[in-house]
Amino acid sequence: LAQLFRPLDLLGMVYRTIRQGAIDMASMFELIDTPPEVTDAAGAPALLVGRGHVRFENVRFGYEAERPILKGLDLDIPAGSTVAVVGSSGAGKSTLARLLYRFYDVDGGRITIDGQDVRAVTQASLRAAIGIVPQDTVLFNETIGYNIAYGREGAGEAEVARAAEGAAIAGFIARQPDGYATRVGERGLKLSGGEKQRVAIARTLLKDPPILILDEATSALDSRTEADILATLEAVERGRTTIVIAHRLSTVVGADRIVVLDEGRVAEMGSHAELLRRDGLYAAMWARQAAERDAALAAA
Ligand code: ATP
Repeated sequence: LAQLFRPLDLLGMVYRTIRQGAIDMASMFELIDTPPEVTDAAGAPALLVGRGHVRFENVRFGYEAERPILKGLDLDIPAGSTVAVVGSSGAGKSTLARLLYRFYDVDGGRITIDGQDVRAVTQASLRAAIGIVPQDTVLFNETIGYNIAYGREGAGEAEVARAAEGAAIAGFIARQPDGYATRVGERGLKLSGGEKQRVAIARTLLKDPPILILDEATSALDSRTEADILATLEAVERGRTTIVIAHRLSTVVGADRIVVLDEGRVAEMGSHAELLRRDGLYAAMWARQAAERDAALAAA
């Protein structure tokens, strides 16, 4: 009987592996979806990054011609500063990040980094300048050390350890039986959402890019983990131009500059306190989320 079941087991394993692969690919391609029409211009030079001043100038874009998503968006992000982008679901927050990374080209207007149009430089140099901490980190069925070192080709053990330290995951790794050689994934160590995010942060620290995109996890981490990760991220953001794509408002309260996207444009901009005083879209979103939180608490 056992022999009869072995092939089925194997089939099950193959199926699970493929399915897992498909899920990983799906989450990766949510952001990393390079359409073939985006190519380097002939003789394009490499991006010369200074401090990383990012500008969106009158940017127009739609995935389909008949459905514009961004309708003349202006956003100036001074070098080294952080902006948090908020807006209703589908407002185009992640689209901003995809355009900056040039997964797609704008239909009108332009995006510049230190004065250079992202379409005029090589994609390789553009992408080397931008680090992304995604919502869902793709981990390989490999060692945890490999998963961190993936941030930069040729990174040495000491650098990997330093990055893990900076991402506050070194202690967790030290507690694993095989340390950095501990395997993760399907058949190895399962990492929590917060731990996976720390691996992504460590990868980004290794890459050391002047520009950072943080695509905040949509599913709530427990509040202590969330506070710990926010503190770690604050240290990573220092000195880098950072765009935080915020799907929940609770995490942007401390941001200096919050940008509210609506109808394909920047509708409001300011700190949390300023935007509450303004009593506009942000204040309404805040009131709605507070009411939802209270209702959830009351139901618990
Ligand atoms: P959320 O907070 O829900 O993640 P978001 O503000 O980040 O939303 P985007 O992911 O930027 O929203 O999407 C903006 C709009 O573009 C949505 O209506 C979405 O359905 C659409 N869209 C996103 N990606 C594609 C695509 N590859 N093809 C067609 N439409 C897309």
